[in-house]
Amino acid sequence: MLGDTQGRKFDGYVTDYVVFDLETTGISCTTDRVIEISAVKVQGAKAVDEFSALVNPEMKIPFRASQVNHIYDDMVKDAPVFEKVLADFDAFIGDMVLVGHNIHTFDMKFIQRDAFLYWGRVFANDYIDTLALSRQCLPQLSNHKLTDLANHYRIAADGAHRALADCRMNQKVFEKLGEALQSPAVKRNMKICPRCGQLMRKRSGRFGEFWGCGGYPGCRYTENI
Ligand SMILES: [Zn+2]
Repeated sequence: MLGDTQGRKFDGYVTDYVVFDLETTGISCTTDRVIEISAVKVQGAKAVDEFSALVNPEMKIPFRASQVNHIYDDMVKDAPVFEKVLADFDAFIGDMVLVGHNIHTFDMKFIQRDAFLYWGRVFANDYIDTLALSRQCLPQLSNHKLTDLANHYRIAADGAHRALADCRMNQKVFEKLGEALQSPAVKRNMKICPRCGQLMRKRSGRFGEFWGCGGYPGCRYTENI
């Protein structure tokens, strides 16, 4: 759903959402381009629909990117350009909450950049990043890549690194993280910012420990412990 202001990141669990994932020509949010976008729509915690499209990036895909995502130039040469695919994605997601792994620093930046480029508008959908949730719920894990979480929860990781397979895996992981958020052990060490909905962190300052919003410096809410 496109609007004048972009949606907000928040931390928590919802039962209705769209998981999405991108494959790209590389990791730069300024020069790299999308080559695949996939999504799984979930209602009442159940997957009900899927979306997946290859994209012609109008540039050569670097070999090192193809090695990771197994998408090669000849696979995308007849695919539609991203302006068309992103419009279809927008219709698919409507105003639902978006969910994804590491989307706050990666995927959201690509789709907001391109929505603004094509239409002068941005996605107003609020979104949840499962990377932030997993760091909170599974502090014992040393790595929080999606495949690490799938391993932890014994979720099959077949076809990892293609966008739709990653969405299906991420959807199952998000449901597990939603359960973990309810566990007393996690709740005891967790506080959600009442101002912006993001996880708060224990910080230490001159006068001892306090809760500080994880959205700092965007949100400066604090609370005494
Ligand atoms: Zn906050």
